[in-house]
Amino acid sequence: MGDGEVETFRIKDVRAYVVKGGGADYHDQSTNHWILGYIATPISIYPEYRASRASWGLNVLGSLVVEVEDSRGEVGFGVSTGGYPAAWIVENHLKRFVVGKYVGEIEKTWDQMFKATIFYGRRGLVMNAISAVDLALWDLAGKVRGLPVYDLLGGPVRDEIVFYATGPRPDIAKRKGFIGGKLPLKHGPADGIEGLRENVKIFKEWREQLGDDFLLMYDCWMSLDLPYAMRLVNELKPYGLYWIEEPFIPDDYWSYGALAQILPPTLLASGEHESTLHGFRMLLEVGKVNVIQPDITWVGGITPMIKISALAEAYGTYVIPHGSSVYGYHFIITRVNSPFAEYLVVSPDATEIIPQFSPLLLNEPVPENGRIRLSRRPGFGVELNRKIELVRIK
Ligand SMILES: [Mg+2]
Repeated sequence: MGDGEVETFRIKDVRAYVVKGGGADYHDQSTNHWILGYIATPISIYPEYRASRASWGLNVLGSLVVEVEDSRGEVGFGVSTGGYPAAWIVENHLKRFVVGKYVGEIEKTWDQMFKATIFYGRRGLVMNAISAVDLALWDLAGKVRGLPVYDLLGGPVRDEIVFYATGPRPDIAKRKGFIGGKLPLKHGPADGIEGLRENVKIFKEWREQLGDDFLLMYDCWMSLDLPYAMRLVNELKPYGLYWIEEPFIPDDYWSYGALAQILPPTLLASGEHESTLHGFRMLLEVGKVNVIQPDITWVGGITPMIKISALAEAYGTYVIPHGSSVYGYHFIITRVNSPFAEYLVVSPDATEIIPQFSPLLLNEPVPENGRIRLSRRPGFGVELNRKIELVRIK
């Protein structure tokens, strides 16, 4: 460490909060929201958990907010999902690795947080907690230097980001200037041949309505088995399926690898529920995916993304982060192998383009004509919306 002025600021406090009612945990919505509706999941094989994703608890956790404050009183913040248990981990375990570090000492902090939590988790809650801390540290590092995070990552490689939209209304996405639309898959293997026919019919009708040049994808949210996925892809190929997303659970790299053999020209996309550099190596090497989709608010933040993205580039693979809002945008704009981004349509009926983490952030940009130009505001360029209830956890 040198003796520059910036490096003398040290982290003096870490604070964890829980927020309910949407935000980074965009599944935490009221039950009339499309995202909690009739969508295939791994638990759809049980009829009692078929009609609503809220019925088995997809909406229980809530958003996590972490603030870090330096010795001068400057505050950075980051967000994730994971709610109360993730906030507890931040306050009672991770905090010790952050307080006392100088602003910008992020790689070491991340490595310590990760190695100290391996004994109880390498995906999910623990990585949610680490993500929020990591994003808060990058936000603070940018604010202290007066630079946007994308400048800390090497600077932009393009002037603006183009988007595809995820939701059940790709027609509205096309009209609003998005380059593509990703549909939630409605039926899984338990819905039988009728369900499969319905999945194909829905896709075919959108393709006919939206034309050949609009990217159309299916998000399967881990709901399929290999034989079903093979059949579905073969039936959709004539209608230009651009990619099939997350057909299997994250652990089943071998089904991914087997499906990859019959896919071209359809691409295989996955990784929103994957974590660690080694997990992504498995997905690339064994799973043979063409597009990886780490969620920057779940995978551990910006710090592991630098390594995962470099690994993916060596495999000729796109990195199109899942969700992630501004945390994704600041990363994507600095990487050649991230040519476009996801916008998750979070309005309840999927008709309006509202901020992805609404109502958690202020100044959160939304795609206009399917595009975003990032501001030069320091850090991630957003503030916490203090009008919503932040519950402090200790
Ligand atoms: Mg997905």
